[in-house]
Amino acid sequence: MSVNWHEGDGCQGACCLRVSDLGVTVEGRTILQGVDLHIHCGQIVALIGPNGAGKSTLFKAILGQQPHTGSIQFERSGGKRARPRVGYVPQSPAFQRGEPVSVLDLFAAAISPWPVFLPVPRSLRDRVSQCLARVHGETLIDQRLGSLSGGELQRVLLALALEPLPHILILDEPFSGVDVEGELRLLRLLDELRRVFDLSVLLSTHDFSNLCDYADKVVLMKETVLKVGPAREVMDSPEFAQVFHLRLDREGA
Ligand code: ADP
Ligand code: MG
Repeated sequence: MSVNWHEGDGCQGACCLRVSDLGVTVEGRTILQGVDLHIHCGQIVALIGPNGAGKSTLFKAILGQQPHTGSIQFERSGGKRARPRVGYVPQSPAFQRGEPVSVLDLFAAAISPWPVFLPVPRSLRDRVSQCLARVHGETLIDQRLGSLSGGELQRVLLALALEPLPHILILDEPFSGVDVEGELRLLRLLDELRRVFDLSVLLSTHDFSNLCDYADKVVLMKETVLKVGPAREVMDSPEFAQVFHLRLDREGA
């Protein structure tokens, strides 16, 4: 399968993530094969494909949680190779409405060894507040997880994924369970974060309505990468039509 890269293969000294010939087989079944992917720092890349295409599996491989063949390399500016820090926002976890754990409790448990049954000291509270400020969510600090809206929960999980600051931020279907307004707010935030912190954003989505506005690159996959390029080009491709069973023989289609 040939993949048409839209930039030269060299990165001109910028940092990048390069996935080469990645394969995943689980219990004799091929989940991913021959996956090539190249992402520059500061880019927002959208991964699209039907359910079961292997998007989450690819994320797990990049996170180091999925045995695979092929290679995943990260190059810092100047060509130095290093293991990247990857921040991960999982696919919409649901909390019970009555969930008593607060945003502060969650952060305290996640970012410090402070025992959860003791009151959180001022210094730790300030640190959590700074983490939430990155997503403009300082006011959420004392809210219970169960009382957060879908969009607020996304922002809290995003703030968690940004501590410590990652090189690559991965979000698995961040727009599912978020309304249109929440999606736009999240997109504006991601755009700000990648500019401020120069991090790469890799997200999967089934919502193609805004792709042209925010994605620097769209990757269509189903077991392997079928098409890479600007959103419009990918969505107008025969590969896209085939994967999503669109008929191209209708007039105007
Ligand atoms: P997507 O995120 O694109 O919906 P996934 O990566 O979740 O796709 O899954 C890709 C395929 O791999 C699916 O057919 C799924 O059933 C299978 N799969 C994922 N993880 C496992 C696993 N741990 N064991 C067996 N099959 C798996
Ligand atoms: Mg998935």
